[in-house]
Amino acid sequence: MESLIKKLYHEKNLSDDEFKILIESNEGSELLVKYADLVRQKYYGKKVFLRGLIEISSYCKNDCLYCGIRRSNKNAERYRLTREEILSCCENGYELGFRTFVMQGGEDSHFTDDFMCSLIYEIKNKYPDCAVTLSLGERSYESYRRLKNAGADRYLLRHETASPELYRKLHPSEMSLENRIECLYNLHSLGYQVGAGFMVGVPFQTTENLIEDLRFLQQLKPQMIGIGAFIPHHDTPFRNEKAGTLEMTLKLLGILRLMFPMALIPATTALGTIAPDGRERGLKTGCNVVMPNLSPVTVRKKYSLYDNKICTGEESAECKNCLQRRIESVGYEISTERGDAIN
Ligand code: SAH
Repeated sequence: MESLIKKLYHEKNLSDDEFKILIESNEGSELLVKYADLVRQKYYGKKVFLRGLIEISSYCKNDCLYCGIRRSNKNAERYRLTREEILSCCENGYELGFRTFVMQGGEDSHFTDDFMCSLIYEIKNKYPDCAVTLSLGERSYESYRRLKNAGADRYLLRHETASPELYRKLHPSEMSLENRIECLYNLHSLGYQVGAGFMVGVPFQTTENLIEDLRFLQQLKPQMIGIGAFIPHHDTPFRNEKAGTLEMTLKLLGILRLMFPMALIPATTALGTIAPDGRERGLKTGCNVVMPNLSPVTVRKKYSLYDNKICTGEESAECKNCLQRRIESVGYEISTERGDAIN
């Protein structure tokens, strides 16, 4: 295992067979942590970037089988934030020191291009030193173009899985991996900093599927890579499936850091949900971003993608302080920079 990890560290790549051995082995996790941290510190030092996450809508027209806000979940509580509420989250976040706002939501046609463009324009006007990141799912090239022109800087769109067969098992037939991938390349060509990624331990996933994800990321070369353990939601068809493990997620985070030394990789809420120290362990394994929740406390429980999601009860300031303590407890420090990717 040692030689494989060292090879990955030096060459940023392995053969499929070597990846398979590394992914399936129970050994070498300490060495992977060591090298992942070495690489992360070489490019980013001890910095951890903050992204204020604003969950703008729990309405969604899609029906992804794993997701708690899928349209056929009749028990999901739906909400959408108003323009004023979103602006007030930004104001709150700016005071707390956030220099990136991430607006994420289900695919909700209420958030038209006109609505979003005018909102983005106002946020950029009020906070010219901040980055605006969108995570609103699949939209047309023209829509992405307009949002970019209004001032959006980054876009997060996990590819979810690069395997067409697995994609079909996780999504209804009206959705397609082809379209999702086209969206990612469109975003890239429009000049967005792009984030892709996948879930770990999703039902039916094999080691080969994970290797396909790594190969897809090598082609796309996204600036940001978000991965997190799959966690079942009780009102979805996957309610009785097992969650992904912390160990497997950490292993993939370590591998990604060695493959993509300069990527921005968040220690996600899903990681903190599967284990109390999940995010700290993620930071030690190459993660350099955290995304504290800036959504109004009144809606947080309703943005329920999976069960037992953490950080749904606290005010934003508490969320930030808690994360700051966690970051410092493992020897890293919050950066007040915008935190763009190094190219
Ligand atoms: N509508 C947007 C945002 C989706 S929510 C979009 O399509 O990109 C953000 C991410 O949450 C998804 O990309 C998915 O990877 C993750 N997610 C959804 N359901 C999940 C679950 N049950 N467990 C873990 N992560 C989940």
